[in-house]
Amino acid sequence: MEFGFEVALCSFLESTTDWVVARQLGGAVATPGSRIVDICAVKPGTAFEARTRITSREIPALAIESDVGVGKAVDWREAFECSAERAQSVIDRATECGFFETERHNGRRFVRQTARYPTWIGGLVGIENKPDLGTPGDLQRQLRIDVSVGLFDTVILATESYVTDAHLNRLPEAVGVWRFDPEARERTVIREPTPLAVEKTGVELQARRPLQTDVAFVTPAEKAAKRRRIAERAYGKGWRTYTFPDCQHITATADGRPYCSWFDRVVNPAVECGDDCEGFQPGEPPAVDCKRLRDKRSPWVADPEGTQRAQSGLDRFL
Ligand code: SF4
Repeated sequence: MEFGFEVALCSFLESTTDWVVARQLGGAVATPGSRIVDICAVKPGTAFEARTRITSREIPALAIESDVGVGKAVDWREAFECSAERAQSVIDRATECGFFETERHNGRRFVRQTARYPTWIGGLVGIENKPDLGTPGDLQRQLRIDVSVGLFDTVILATESYVTDAHLNRLPEAVGVWRFDPEARERTVIREPTPLAVEKTGVELQARRPLQTDVAFVTPAEKAAKRRRIAERAYGKGWRTYTFPDCQHITATADGRPYCSWFDRVVNPAVECGDDCEGFQPGEPPAVDCKRLRDKRSPWVADPEGTQRAQSGLDRFL
């Protein structure tokens, strides 16, 4: 149920906003992986177009954080603080995606950026989905963590349930609340979110033991780096991150969601499909061009010209 709700909300946001929408990204800083946020959306900032020109893919964080600049190419060994193996892998990925270009001088590899990395993030929205508020699970704790870290500019709870005052009172005040109907594609804003202090030190709640809760302080610089990583991941991945199964019953909805005719609903292929499913009938998966769908519906640009210099200018070094 939650998967169908989630991808319907992603599709709704993609077609009604200019946000870059992604699913299931890490939202913890001190203990990465301890908090996965259902939907992460990036609001384009003023330099968004400059970002779209560089590459349609995710730019590796270590490439952005390295001492490689746009001017003179530098010896890669002086530009990274990680292991040589890791640095080489980052350089390869950054070069493949068009953010770095590589030259050789006396047999040594030199690198530079093809364009200055732009400040393109206008804001981050974190959305926690809980279609049925009757089974809230860990909802309150998750939202408390999000608010106290302050990694996202705004945090929203999205639900299909009728929202009562009692529900609202149990949630942190800063959390906005949407009621969303995935069939009708209608959203009602029940409560607007309060912007969080992303530029201030946050507190990340960690392990909880009897009479003790461990916390970690997250500095503004750590938050800024994590926000950039989330935005880059969202830009590169989008929300259609599933693979269609080789079952006769699967088709794609017009916006690219996996629809099963056996169960007559959208299904989560990673969890529900496979030859142990009672309706499974071997067949060809549908040919769905998720890249084209995304390019048509979101501000993401599939095949930018890129910012690499003319190859002929480099040939003399290679
Ligand atoms: S494997 Fe099962 S859930 Fe998946 S498409 Fe086929 S019938 Fe539907």
